[in-house]
Amino acid sequence: MDILISGASVAGPALALWLRRYGHDVTVVEKAPALRGGGYAVDFRGSVHMRTLERMGLRDALEARATHMGDIAIVDGTGARVAALPASVFSGDLEVLRGDLAEVLYGATRDRVRYRFGDQITAIEQDEHGVDVTFGSGSAGRFDLVVGCDGVHSGVRRLVFGDDPAHRRPLGVYGGVFTMPGTMGLRRSGVMYNEPGRAITVTSPHGGDQIVSMSFYEPGLEFDHRDVDRQRRIVAERFAGAGWRTAELLEAMERAEDFWFDSTTQIHLDRWSRGRVVLLGDAGYAGGPGGNGTGLAVVGAHVLAGELDRARGEHGVALRRYEELLRPYVATCQRQSGGSPDFLVPTSWKKIAQRNRFFKAMRYVPVAPRLVRHFATKTATAFDLPEYDLPALV
Ligand SMILES: Cc1cc2nc3c(=O)[nH]c(=O)nc-3n(C[C@H](O)[C@H](O)[C@H](O)COP(=O)(O)OP(=O)(O)OC[C@H]3O[C@@H](n4cnc5c(N)ncnc54)[C@H](O)[C@@H]3O)c2cc1C
Repeated sequence: MDILISGASVAGPALALWLRRYGHDVTVVEKAPALRGGGYAVDFRGSVHMRTLERMGLRDALEARATHMGDIAIVDGTGARVAALPASVFSGDLEVLRGDLAEVLYGATRDRVRYRFGDQITAIEQDEHGVDVTFGSGSAGRFDLVVGCDGVHSGVRRLVFGDDPAHRRPLGVYGGVFTMPGTMGLRRSGVMYNEPGRAITVTSPHGGDQIVSMSFYEPGLEFDHRDVDRQRRIVAERFAGAGWRTAELLEAMERAEDFWFDSTTQIHLDRWSRGRVVLLGDAGYAGGPGGNGTGLAVVGAHVLAGELDRARGEHGVALRRYEELLRPYVATCQRQSGGSPDFLVPTSWKKIAQRNRFFKAMRYVPVAPRLVRHFATKTATAFDLPEYDLPALV
């Protein structure tokens, strides 16, 4: 099949890898002018994620870039440590920076897949036999299948499934993430500072540069996801006057080239495909924080490609099966993410103190981290990974 993928972050290149392996012709169109770096660490956890990475042939390459993060110290306004988030609980079995993951996936596919950066789909029309696509650059093409891997603000979803606000469930937490030169002497460690409704986390997985995440709770905030300057202003306004080393971080944010901002949002749709157009990853079923979004993207890519191969050209059968198989897994992951705002950005000093006490107590109850880890892994492994034929790369 001649397949067009929209989006080159995690889901897009992961699917491209599989589709090439099954012998399809693949084009990936990405809105950004080049592969986007940046972002926070993402986790893979449990046997389903790890076996998928193994089958992709990328486990070693990703292990080589693992963050091996230690605990994250929770500090007060003077920088004194008051508690810690144990790494054993939050880092999963393999943690890598999102930018590193995208780079490894792109590196594994760039010679076999047509990447078109700086372009995007502007119109989609389909009939029984194919999909006609128009691009922003003015060119056009006809494909057998179009896959939207273009994230929570998916253009493919808007064009084919409509711009229904009911598809998006914002969790009220917004965050900016950027990289800056290290100023806190961190190496494989991090610090977190909270004020009511605001959280700053600084980590340095590899030493040198540090990654800053500034999150705040503000249900109902509207923003233009294309207007990056305005997004910087939003973060600067929300953190103006905050204590600790906030001023220094806000200054660095102004210069950061990889600044990324978004709301933590879940995506819920009744159907993930219409005819020959299908959604994968955050575009179709974003999980929100703690919802295994990156794991769902790579597992989803494996299942979609595997079902297309099994159905031998019957795309309708394959897309139905992809959805039937994956939906219960997605629902489980999305349920797990539901309560996370309280943990990420407690909204009062009292709630901050309660959360800190919880993590302090965890140090003295060794079974507690194991329990949290157990439940997180249970969610990530709540899927029976099908055994697909795995042809060698062509
Ligand atoms: C730069 C960046 C930083 C991120 N940082 C974090 C983070 O710190 N924490 C976190 O939890 N998650 C982060 N994410 C989201 C995370 O990558 C996803 O939740 C998860 O990995 C699933 O990936 P995905 O490929 O489905 O979606 P995404 O990673 O969101 O990728 C979507 C891709 O599609 C592209 N795109 C968007 N619209 C269009 C369009 N109309 N046409 C063509 N291409 C389009 C985007 O530029 C992007 O490359 C980040 C994503 C990006 C792109």
